Amino acid sequence: MVREIVTYPAEILKKPTEKVDVVDREIRSLIRDMFDTMYQAEGVGLAANQIGVPLRIMVIDTTPKEEAPDLKLVLINPELVSSEGKIKYKEGCLSFPGLTVEVERAMKVKVRGLSEEGEEVELELEGFPAIVFQHELDHLDGITFIDRLKGWRRRIALEKYKKLLKEGERVP
Ligand code: ZN
Repeated sequence: MVREIVTYPAEILKKPTEKVDVVDREIRSLIRDMFDTMYQAEGVGLAANQIGVPLRIMVIDTTPKEEAPDLKLVLINPELVSSEGKIKYKEGCLSFPGLTVEVERAMKVKVRGLSEEGEEVELELEGFPAIVFQHELDHLDGITFIDRLKGWRRRIALEKYKKLLKEGERVP
């Protein structure tokens, strides 16, 4: 089921989410909704709080992104184990419709969490999938991509976003 995507500046996007205790049917149904919602919005990653559920769950599917390695992933209670290198990339976010900002992140990350079956998984991501993981992990910690910008860069991005919101209001 496609759910409504929460857009900034909603409070739920600014608060850290809570750990999932048990991976049960309800959680798996939520994950299906997250994929449905992400595909409908043509996104490549989604955090549960972006559909109004404050739990530590992310889904990723980089398949639509042509030049990037394909990765389809569900991570429950994800953690960043280690990171190395740096990469700058112009990111978009389903909670900031129309806005793109250049963010610097780690090039390579080792991550771990639980699968949809509740099993522990650990994997290494590099390049685009690593960027998406870090973007979604930030969401789960109540951090959005504009929080990764400093000073005037952040101010400009916020101004741009406010303008986009106003323009959106005029669309019938
Ligand atoms: Zn986002």
